Amino acid sequence: MKFLSRLSRLTEPQSCALCHARALGGICGGCMADLLKTATPPERVCPQCGGAGDGVTICGACQKKPPPFDLLWSSCAYAPPVSGILHEFKHLRRLELRRPLACLMAALPPPWLRHEAVDGILAVPLSRERQMERGFNQCTELARLIAPFFRLPVLPENTVFRRPSPPQSTLAYRERLKNAKGLFEVRGDVKKRNLLLIDDVATTNATLAELARMLRRAGAERVFCWTLAQAKMQRP
Ligand SMILES: [Zn+2]
Ligand SMILES: [Zn+2]
Repeated sequence: MKFLSRLSRLTEPQSCALCHARALGGICGGCMADLLKTATPPERVCPQCGGAGDGVTICGACQKKPPPFDLLWSSCAYAPPVSGILHEFKHLRRLELRRPLACLMAALPPPWLRHEAVDGILAVPLSRERQMERGFNQCTELARLIAPFFRLPVLPENTVFRRPSPPQSTLAYRERLKNAKGLFEVRGDVKKRNLLLIDDVATTNATLAELARMLRRAGAERVFCWTLAQAKMQRP
């Protein structure tokens, strides 16, 4: 119940973002039930990379080449209605949609979050150019709303600098891996920190892997990743 009262405090608007019915949490009960249907079944994912798996065993790809991050969890599948809401939030700049999306993440947290010693949240940065164009960083918006649920501080936005590059969503699998290389420069102090990266969608994990690599190089101890949605892109 404590969770629900915090949820309603977090979400002030009184009409549902999807169907415009009266709603306590920015999204009505019926629409939240639809959103929860896209939840990741923990027993069907690799516990390390969030790809297909059995929930217990590290998948073949992770065994062959362990990712540079410790664990990755995606709250739900990148499927309607989540994909539609995310599109409106990011591309049509409907900033009010950050609340139902953050609530969805808070309702479907990583199963390991309570027992891992995470000490700070870092939103995946956008390049200055992209942020100017969009007007906000969707990851920062989600991170700021999620953080109080788990009593975690959010690291300043200038902790990591991101160079301008073509959006990953416009590229094929191999180009995404190449495009992510050298994308980040860590400028803040992350030494000995156990960080939780927040991103909106995990596709190839290339961006998260590159950021994790750079944070580790800058002295971070452990790097965990949490995304709203998972849109697994098949390797060619
Ligand atoms: Zn609704
Ligand atoms: Zn894996």
